[in-house]
Amino acid sequence: PNRKLVAGNWKMNGLAASAAMLEELVAAHPTPACDILICPPATLIAALAGGAVPIGGQDCHWAVSGAHTGDISAEMLADAGATAVILGHSERRADHGETDVTVAKKTHAAWRAGLLAIVCVGETEAQRDANETLDVVGRQLGASVPDGATAANLAIAYEPVWAIGTGRTPSLEEIAQVHDFLRAELVKRFGKETGSGIRLLYGGSVKPGNAAEIFTVGNVDGALVGGASLTAKDFGGIIAAA
Ligand code: 13P
Repeated sequence: PNRKLVAGNWKMNGLAASAAMLEELVAAHPTPACDILICPPATLIAALAGGAVPIGGQDCHWAVSGAHTGDISAEMLADAGATAVILGHSERRADHGETDVTVAKKTHAAWRAGLLAIVCVGETEAQRDANETLDVVGRQLGASVPDGATAANLAIAYEPVWAIGTGRTPSLEEIAQVHDFLRAELVKRFGKETGSGIRLLYGGSVKPGNAAEIFTVGNVDGALVGGASLTAKDFGGIIAAA
C-alpha cells in the first residue's frame, strides 16, 4: 500500500492569523503516519511555506509568466515555497470554465516547476443518477493527465461533485468501485509500477467521523479535505485516522 496523503484544500478561506492553526496542528501531530499538505489561498503560501507542513497551491496558469492578469504560474508557486498544486477542482471547472485540456496544460506546467500535481476528477449527481460515473471520471482522467506521470509527480483526487460540502458521501462500495477503476486505468496507461504508486485520494465531506472507514478502502491512498481542513481539531482527527 502507498503511504497516505491527507491534503487540506482551504479554498477561499484563511487570513494571516491562520498560521496559528498550522502550529496547533503540528503540536498535536508531530510525527503523523501519513504525508500531510495544506493548500491555502495564494496570498498565504509564502507566509506558511517552509515550516513543518508542506504547502500547495489551488490552481496555476500553464504559462511561465506573461500578460495573464490575476493568474499565478507554477514557477511562482514554487518560488513562494509551494511543493504541490491542486488542479481541475470541480469548483474551478464550474466557475472558471476549466476543461480537461486546460487542466492537462496546467499539470504539465506543475511538473515543469517541480510540483506534485493533484488532479481532481468527479461526477455530478445527474451523471451518477444516469450511471455515467465511470465514463465521466475515465474521460477526465484520460484527458486531464498528460504523458509523463510518475508516482512522485501526480496524485488523483476523486471528488464526486454532489459530495462536496454537502455532508453526503458515497458508500464505501461506491468509493471502492471508482478507485478500483481509476487504478486500473492508471496501470493500463502508465504501467504496473507507476500506475500502482500514483496516489488516489478521496474527497467530498471527509470528516474525523468517517475518515477511518474511508481509509479502509483498498485503493484509497488518502483524502482531499475541504471544510474539515480549516481547524486543527478536525484536520488532526483525519490525520490520526490515516
Ligand atoms: P469538503 O470536504 O468541504 O466537502 O470539500 C471537499 C473538496 O472539495 C476538497 O477539495
